[in-house]
Amino acid sequence: MQTIAEGVIRVQLAPRAGLNAYLLDETVLVDTGMPHQRGRLERVLTGQTLERIVLTHAHVDHAGTVAALSAKFGCEVLCGTADLADLAAGISPPIRLGRPMIPVQRALVRYRGLRSSALDDGDEVGAGFVAVGTRGHSPGHHALWRERDGVLIAGDALFGISKTLRTGVFAPPGIDQPDREGCTRAIIRLAELRPKVIAFGHGPVLFDDAAHQLSALAKTLR
Ligand SMILES: [Zn+2]
Repeated sequence: MQTIAEGVIRVQLAPRAGLNAYLLDETVLVDTGMPHQRGRLERVLTGQTLERIVLTHAHVDHAGTVAALSAKFGCEVLCGTADLADLAAGISPPIRLGRPMIPVQRALVRYRGLRSSALDDGDEVGAGFVAVGTRGHSPGHHALWRERDGVLIAGDALFGISKTLRTGVFAPPGIDQPDREGCTRAIIRLAELRPKVIAFGHGPVLFDDAAHQLSALAKTLR
């Protein structure tokens, strides 16, 4: 666990920050890891009173334990409107593209689904963060932004680690980009926020020169 800003804790779910969830003001959980990470998250959350779970998107590595955690803590779940059907079905969006998937892949992207409420652009989610619609990596993807100290929780609109394990700020890998134009627009929109700190679904938090690095990435995509 790493405190990355006032009231914002990064919960590491895989080595080298390969997968992260975030806890805001000890009451809001952002993303919930893979299905097998339920125990780890339950231990981290012991003694907390969760008010809500916010999902940046409905992919299995972010929504994997949401049904169990929301039942245990009796809290609401918010997720972008366009991802709600996937969340209810407990199936990661790639399956719905109609691409052939081998059974192993199909099993890996399944989780226990649930109903949740719609998260929309500009919604306040707690701890001073608002949702920023960033469709692309998934159709209902949202990042979370706190203007007062420039903290951006990017979900998978941005990656903090490359395929070759370099750290920094990167576009989401191509395999997860059903909507390249949307991904590009999302990155440009986030760059315009000029964040001071960028927290990723995948990769270590970027503190140094974050706005500059992100705008350099956005320029390569324009
Ligand atoms: Zn992810």
